[in-house]
Amino acid sequence: MRALRRDRDLKAKRSGRRRRRPLVIIAPVAVELLGLWLRTHRVGGNIIVRCREGHLFTTVWVPGASVKSIRLGWWRFQRCPVGHHWAIVTPVRESSLTDEELALATARRDIRVP
Ligand SMILES: [Zn+2]
Repeated sequence: MRALRRDRDLKAKRSGRRRRRPLVIIAPVAVELLGLWLRTHRVGGNIIVRCREGHLFTTVWVPGASVKSIRLGWWRFQRCPVGHHWAIVTPVRESSLTDEELALATARRDIRVP
């Protein structure tokens, strides 16, 4: 009887873990997507970002996918092609930039992989 109950508890625990697994995968992507949307009003693609030293450049940003960077919510740790250094970059809303900044940022691109 006790063994039966233990078996049932184990099964319940296992299925609970299984049910939570998709959430563990989806939640960080949802947070990233929301952050990206709030900052840029876009959901991905060619996104203008600013590094911690103020350099502006365009990068390919696909929520949930990245080869060249370490994803940290709506921040990314990646190579800055302007200053040639590694830095945390954040998406920038295009409407917040001057025409000059926008022209500079779109002219400077990093490698074309997310
Ligand atoms: Zn930089």
